[in-house]
Amino acid sequence: MAKRTRIIEGMWDCSSCGTKGILARHKKCPHCNNPRELTGQESEFDFGDTDAATGKSLREGVTDEKALELANAGADWFCAYCGASNRGDQEICKNCRAERGTDAKALQEEADPGLPPEQPAPAAPKKRGALFKVGMVLGGLLVFCCGSSIVYGIWSSMTHETTGQVVSTDWKRTVYQERFTPVTLEGWADELHAQSSRMPVNGAGEVAGVQNIRGCVPRQRTTRKVADGTERVCSTKHRKTACGTEEKCHTRNKGNGFKEEVCEDVTKYCDESYEDCRNETHYRDEPVYAPKCTYDSYQWKEVTHREASGGDGEPPRWPDLSVSPEDRLRREEKYTLHIAYDGGKKNTTFEPKTEQEYLGWKKGQQVSLTVSNGGEVKQIVPR
Ligand SMILES: [Zn+2]
Ligand SMILES: [Zn+2]
Repeated sequence: MAKRTRIIEGMWDCSSCGTKGILARHKKCPHCNNPRELTGQESEFDFGDTDAATGKSLREGVTDEKALELANAGADWFCAYCGASNRGDQEICKNCRAERGTDAKALQEEADPGLPPEQPAPAAPKKRGALFKVGMVLGGLLVFCCGSSIVYGIWSSMTHETTGQVVSTDWKRTVYQERFTPVTLEGWADELHAQSSRMPVNGAGEVAGVQNIRGCVPRQRTTRKVADGTERVCSTKHRKTACGTEEKCHTRNKGNGFKEEVCEDVTKYCDESYEDCRNETHYRDEPVYAPKCTYDSYQWKEVTHREASGGDGEPPRWPDLSVSPEDRLRREEKYTLHIAYDGGKKNTTFEPKTEQEYLGWKKGQQVSLTVSNGGEVKQIVPR
């Protein structure tokens, strides 16, 4: 974009006669002929106010040749003998004819920095910083909580050894008499395959069968998701967009009562809100039907059962139950040790799997236990 350059002329005040607002092009006071000197305020020029938004000088630029030539003559220097200010391109003091020495004070001409680069388009909104912080806090909590529970988990699974005693032992045995009995069942039509039943011989070799499939009626078997219309969901969001240009200016003090001002138009960014919309599909559960049928089959059903139980040295035995040839017997056995440990303060039970294992334990026997810090008994062995 095009740059617009202006030369702004400063003003100074005479400290000898009090004349104010003397144009910079005058190195001597037009009223009392006092040269501008490197003392107090005379070395400073007043360039007037600038516009806060653009940085543009509120003063008119100078265009006459004499002023422009002075502006480009370099920074002023002050005579080491008489103190008068002189043009940067003069080697002899205009006031006292002394030569410009190396010890002469001079004003500085500012280097041209060029215009600052155009303001880049602002990136993601500030919100992200806040979210990030929330994330950090949640993450921290997560680490803390999970850390604690992991530590607790490790601690409670650690074990220690203790001693105890078998307080009592008991056993319970049950014999079930079961008969292959006709039943009416229901099943899904596509899962039923007709098959003849066969009765058991000496309680074995039976086939339940699927016979007389009938009365098939639709029943709900499962559900499936079906689209049930869509909804338009919108939210208001913000973004930065280019919205024309704005003028930006910067100035460079030439050290001689003039300053150079360069203005250009840069892209301006505005906050724009817009609606972010998408279609959301809603789903509902729809029942799925299938034919369900009634059929005849057989199942083992309990006719009767007998129990026997005992403990503390009494040997396990099976209850008496005679069985007819078409029936079968099913046996269940359960063995339990009651153990006190930690000086009798705590109790636990242990269930041997077989009669042989059960008979290996005796009432009053000393045992060693492996117990987790969480209180779970991990192992029991004779001592
Ligand atoms: Zn004066
Ligand atoms: Zn001089």
